[in-house]
Amino acid sequence: DTVGANLDRAVAAWPDREALVDVESGRRWTYAEFAERVDELASALLNSGVTKGDRVGIWAVNCPEWVFTQYATARIGAIMVNINPAYRTHEVEYVLRQSGIRLLVASLSHKTSDYRAMAEEVRGRCPELREVVYVGDPSWDALVARATPDPVRPELSCDDPINIQYTSGTTGFPKGATLSHHNILNNGYFVGELIAYSEQDRVCIPVPFYHCFGMVMGNLAATSHGACMVIPAASFDPAATLRAVEQERCTSLYGVPTMFIAELNLPDFASYDLTSLRTGIMAGSPCPVEVMKRVVAEMHMEQVSICYGMTETSPVSLQTRMEDDLEHRTGTVGRVLPHIEVKVVDPATGVTVPRGTSGELCTRGYSVMLGYWDEPEKTAEAIDRGRWMHTGDLAMMRDDGYVEIVGRIKDMIIRGGENIYPREIEEFLYGHPKVADVQVVGVPHERYGEEVLACVIPRDPADPLTLDELRTYCDGRLAHYKVPSRLELLETFPMTVSGKVRKIELREKYATG
Ligand code: ATP
Ligand code: MG
Repeated sequence: DTVGANLDRAVAAWPDREALVDVESGRRWTYAEFAERVDELASALLNSGVTKGDRVGIWAVNCPEWVFTQYATARIGAIMVNINPAYRTHEVEYVLRQSGIRLLVASLSHKTSDYRAMAEEVRGRCPELREVVYVGDPSWDALVARATPDPVRPELSCDDPINIQYTSGTTGFPKGATLSHHNILNNGYFVGELIAYSEQDRVCIPVPFYHCFGMVMGNLAATSHGACMVIPAASFDPAATLRAVEQERCTSLYGVPTMFIAELNLPDFASYDLTSLRTGIMAGSPCPVEVMKRVVAEMHMEQVSICYGMTETSPVSLQTRMEDDLEHRTGTVGRVLPHIEVKVVDPATGVTVPRGTSGELCTRGYSVMLGYWDEPEKTAEAIDRGRWMHTGDLAMMRDDGYVEIVGRIKDMIIRGGENIYPREIEEFLYGHPKVADVQVVGVPHERYGEEVLACVIPRDPADPLTLDELRTYCDGRLAHYKVPSRLELLETFPMTVSGKVRKIELREKYATG
């Protein structure tokens, strides 16, 4: 199916059920009303000269217009390009030019970001950019006013590209993955299916729409099952998120582990009524066991699911099932989704390794992107001749088919010939009472090649962890070569907008003694 045809089906099945709620503004739409807004915008885009294959950029924080734009572009076969709301002029100009964007939808401003000023500064340097419209501004109304009454239904194929999504940029410069209806709609559908979404569900989405976690696992998973998308705030705010869950009686909540940690650490956490929650998705980076236990016990998310994926694979390829025990939901990222294949190979030879042995994770199936936009060499490096996507992640498959993520190949620390996986040490240090959050990275060392550095956010800045305390804590419980030889105390970690820690920045910052 195309995304548009899928929406038609939702409208036919659940016309009067709520599709979208914006908590900040109090605006809400049923499926019938939502589809009307989408059709109106689709017609307006066509009447503005945007046709199939044209690129429409979206550079906005979470808002209903983001979702209208997502479905309207899909409806007419235009290719929506998600632009990171944290980008500034230099990066935006790069994306506008690299993907040849014709029309840009942008936020006016949010917090300290003046999107209008930045867009106006670069637009003259982007020859293909014809029009910029700002959400909540007369330019948006002028765009919508171009709509004509008859709904537009151009001939589309499921294999047409409809989206260029940039990767998080955790390990370097972001890459633009080109994705089709077939790629992302199927993925959203199956992710929702595995947590039993129905028209009874209300999904709280505090993760950015700009990232596939929000727009695929959130929006597409919800609409393909008749569930409601709830936008708690324009950008992540732990208190606003819990308030939205309470007010809107949400049944499902999303987040990367750091978001759940922020919510659980709110001083008034206990005052929110979260009893409506049953499920949710945690993804993007490994979840500490202690956090998972609290999410299940204190946030009532007994059926929370862990997903593993990457932008290039639409994104999800592995997911835990609702009935899995706590051990599988913390120790593994689940098992493969229907109609997708995974294998673990020796990165040097490409040969599949036995179960229980770690190697590079590869995935294949409908979910693998069409390619990186306009970068055939990078595509050829990532997707091999057999159509296997090489993830760059180290993983191990258990006998029962569940997969453990060992770490990123790029993050592995090699100290004096020993391979060290930061995740293992992070998990261990997280148990120290003085540690609120921790990241472990490798930094250059004269004798050992690399040494282990622990970056710790202390629970109480007035009484922080010392290197001696850390060593005593590890003594006898971790192999000596894994024990961090350096400790840095931080207030926050450098993050991507999708909520991941940019270890590359930590490594660069502390590279010299
Ligand atoms: P870039 O490719 O630009 O460096 P990125 O890989 O972080 O950034 P994404 O596509 O957003 O960009 O994220 C995919 C990566 O996130 C995976 O390759 C994996 O390393 C990590 N990841 C995703 N889900 C999980 C999970 N459940 N547990 C551990 N790691 C995960
Ligand atoms: Mg990546």
